[in-house]
Amino acid sequence: MRYISTRGAAPVLEFNDVLLEGLASDGGLYVPEVWPKFSNSGNGDYVETAIEVMTPFIGSSIPQKVFEEIVSDAYSTFRHEEIAPLVDMGQGIYLLELFHGPTLAFKDVALQLVGKLFEYELGKRNKKVTIVGATSGDTGSAAIEACRDQENVEMFILHPAGRVSEIQRRQMTTVESANIHNIAIEGTFDDCQDLVKEMFADIDFRQQMQLSAINSINWARVMAQIVYFVVAAERLGGRHSSVSFSVPTGNFGNVFSGYAARRGGLNIDQLVVGSNTNDILTRFFESGTMRIDEVTPTTSPSMDIQVSSNFERLLFELLDREGPKVDEILKRFRKEKEMSISPDLHNELAKEWSGARFTDDQVKQCILEEAENSGIILDPHSAIGVLAGRKCRKTKNIPMIALATAHPAKFPEAVEDATGVRPKLPPHLKDLMERPEQFDKQPNDLQTVQNYIKEMVK
Ligand SMILES: *Cc1c(COP(=O)(O)O)cnc(C)c1O
Repeated sequence: MRYISTRGAAPVLEFNDVLLEGLASDGGLYVPEVWPKFSNSGNGDYVETAIEVMTPFIGSSIPQKVFEEIVSDAYSTFRHEEIAPLVDMGQGIYLLELFHGPTLAFKDVALQLVGKLFEYELGKRNKKVTIVGATSGDTGSAAIEACRDQENVEMFILHPAGRVSEIQRRQMTTVESANIHNIAIEGTFDDCQDLVKEMFADIDFRQQMQLSAINSINWARVMAQIVYFVVAAERLGGRHSSVSFSVPTGNFGNVFSGYAARRGGLNIDQLVVGSNTNDILTRFFESGTMRIDEVTPTTSPSMDIQVSSNFERLLFELLDREGPKVDEILKRFRKEKEMSISPDLHNELAKEWSGARFTDDQVKQCILEEAENSGIILDPHSAIGVLAGRKCRKTKNIPMIALATAHPAKFPEAVEDATGVRPKLPPHLKDLMERPEQFDKQPNDLQTVQNYIKEMVK
């Protein structure tokens, strides 16, 4: 298995190089040269299916026995025996719970595996890296849990001081591990992200520190997420019976994995993209035009995004894998803040994709109604998945599976505001609010932060 860049001008790589590289050298994202097909059946077991579905993507990069151990290890940290249980919500709507990992968000499903893959590959190459990342909440803690205690990784996670929720901050700052460093930046999330970008753009610093990232454009994360689409279909009637998925979407990574599952042979009827009021994707699926707006804060902060980086992978497919075309369109999009696809292409797209947006009030109402009607407690992100699935469903006899991307206790204020009851943290995080925190505050200044990182890495 080999990987090519969506911009068509980067070297073709094997899986293990794509894993460590992240972004392609031409600014594009790596995708498999061909989409491998799944076998016809599976038994719904998570780890077994994970090994089978991902093996063709790994190719000969990792010995089969080693890969099997890595997968089985990665999912041993999940606190539900089915890893991702499927809950019947009635009337053909199902909830796929992806939040039983260490940090209570779906990002654990990919990052628990990717962390282990990094550890293996770095160990094999006897290579040390410095991972730098910016977070507004969920990604930071999932990345920290994925790489804690690793010998070949020093990890620096920047968060905006005073601007992440207390639970999210504590999930990062209470991890006791010598290789994990939390930095509270006196600035906004955008400032944090800019600092990280500037560090990567500083070639000397980048090489000296062996900078690396495990952000959501990393192919390995998309790959790991394909698995639960397949598992869910298996549990509902097999890989060839028709199913639809509704996905609360931010960076488009999760729902793109659904697209990849369809390319692998899964019989997916509809892919529904749920948005909050930051609805750039929903507007795109409605009109064929993508236009950048301001980001508005909502009760589903992990979806408060305008430009969804993984969308580039779908665009590449829509344009028949013509890298230079993708490059041209996206460069223009960055400059003009707008781009359109042809009406023909838009019609084609609308057969399989739809999108719906919801306000904070609608989300609150949904959480309350669901709690009253079925007793299921949704977090605001998962509520958007359920709302979008119900709204966009075209065929009554095809099950609609809504992805639940966070545990309600991760967003207790919004859930309490809707239901009047504050959701409890699960047992492994029960004392989170009492644990000692460790982080250093730094000004929003590139030089200062770089010096801090250099000092720590020594
Ligand atoms: C990251 C995240 C999302 C968005 O997922 P994408 O892959 O970026 O589309 C949705 N919900 C939660 C809870 C998240 O943490």
